Amino acid sequence: MGKLHSVSLNRDRCMGCTNCIKGCPTEAIRVRDGKACIDENRCIDCGECIRICPHHAKSAQCDPFPDLTSRNASKPAAVLLPPSLYAQFGPPATRSMIIRSMYAIGFDFVYEVAIGAEACSLRTREIIAEKRALVQSGGSDFSSVFPLISSACPVVVRLIQMKYKALIPHLIPFDSPMEITAGFARKDIASKLAISPDAIDIYFLSPCPSKRTVTINPLGQNKSEVNFVLALHDVYPLILSALEKEQKDTDAATLHAFVGLAGSEGVQWACAGGEASTLDTEKYMAVDGIHNVISILDEIENERLKDIEFVEPSCCFGGCIGGPLTVTNPFSAKARMRGFIKAAIDDEERSPDKFLRFRHLQLASSWKIPLEANNSMQLDADINTAMDKYEQMERILETLPGLDCGACGAPTCAALAEDIVQGNALETDCIIKLKEHIRKVAQDINLLDL
Ligand code: SF4
Ligand code: SF4
Repeated sequence: MGKLHSVSLNRDRCMGCTNCIKGCPTEAIRVRDGKACIDENRCIDCGECIRICPHHAKSAQCDPFPDLTSRNASKPAAVLLPPSLYAQFGPPATRSMIIRSMYAIGFDFVYEVAIGAEACSLRTREIIAEKRALVQSGGSDFSSVFPLISSACPVVVRLIQMKYKALIPHLIPFDSPMEITAGFARKDIASKLAISPDAIDIYFLSPCPSKRTVTINPLGQNKSEVNFVLALHDVYPLILSALEKEQKDTDAATLHAFVGLAGSEGVQWACAGGEASTLDTEKYMAVDGIHNVISILDEIENERLKDIEFVEPSCCFGGCIGGPLTVTNPFSAKARMRGFIKAAIDDEERSPDKFLRFRHLQLASSWKIPLEANNSMQLDADINTAMDKYEQMERILETLPGLDCGACGAPTCAALAEDIVQGNALETDCIIKLKEHIRKVAQDINLLDL
């Protein structure tokens, strides 16, 4: 199995300041021997530690930009553009210009991930209707089937696998827009060029590290259709310079090897709430920011969220436009995105045949492998041992000062108690306990001297 996450630490830059440990939603970080370390099994690639670290010691690992000029000519390179890419550029840039810039950079084929997003919206509408009919016929309780939870954000899916296992059946169980588009692109190019689907390199421009992890360790399938993931901020300067060379927009239909523009529904997915707004329900909730997502998942788990059919949780503030690998701040990006969505709606109204929306109905395929729970937060696989450890943890916690200061390298006193029980830390890692210990040793020595 490949690496389980895509966030890495530059040890030379890490000052051991402990800023990052408190922001991590899965308590995956500890500071040991003056340096942060990430528990591979617990990291869900939310990128919070990248944002928080004042010393820029954390970064996302993506693939290097390829040499598109001297590569093997028999292996075409296709690039998939997420809707959040458009929001990185202000006027006069248009979607067509951004798509054309990718050919100028050297890619042979370009596909919009928004076409996969449209396919997901269509399938989700069907699933909501099916579940609604089930509830109305008395075949199921509302709370046992709703709310359905979007699986578009891989960070949220991994969070649910780890901390909210009871909610796994609520996840929309089909491939992400990226995977759907990659699968479509592979088949489309293979048929156009009469080559093997394996003889095509597919690149994805990513707004976040979790998209790279999901290509190495896919969700709901054995193998990703995406071969390489490029950080959006690495490719941004190349696109900008190609855009500067070409200030004049032309019709998208004239683009070389371009399959066709996605409709406005897919483009909307860039922002938080964009996916939910494409569904036939008013009973939806969109929540962004990983800590807000956690609050809402707590509510769902405790059945406190009534009368909601669909929840769209996004790890990043603002949705994918707020991903840690983007360039533009999410507020400007959201304002720009409105322009791109409006243009997409206008285009659709002008020439509806130009859009692919309904041709991709059949694209959203279900997960082939059932999603499994991640037990990394369990104290032990054996329930009796886990209960013993829990009791030990509680006893240790009572003796700790309860300041949650982070000076021990764990985010809270409870996390330190857990580390002690698991044999990964000592009580004297707590500086207050260490002082007490030293004082007691000193007293014992004094008593011996007397
Ligand atoms: S925030 Fe974390 S990674 Fe950054 S310097 Fe401090 S301890 Fe190291
Ligand atoms: S990326 Fe998120 S989950 Fe992973 S270590 Fe950083 S803060 Fe924790």
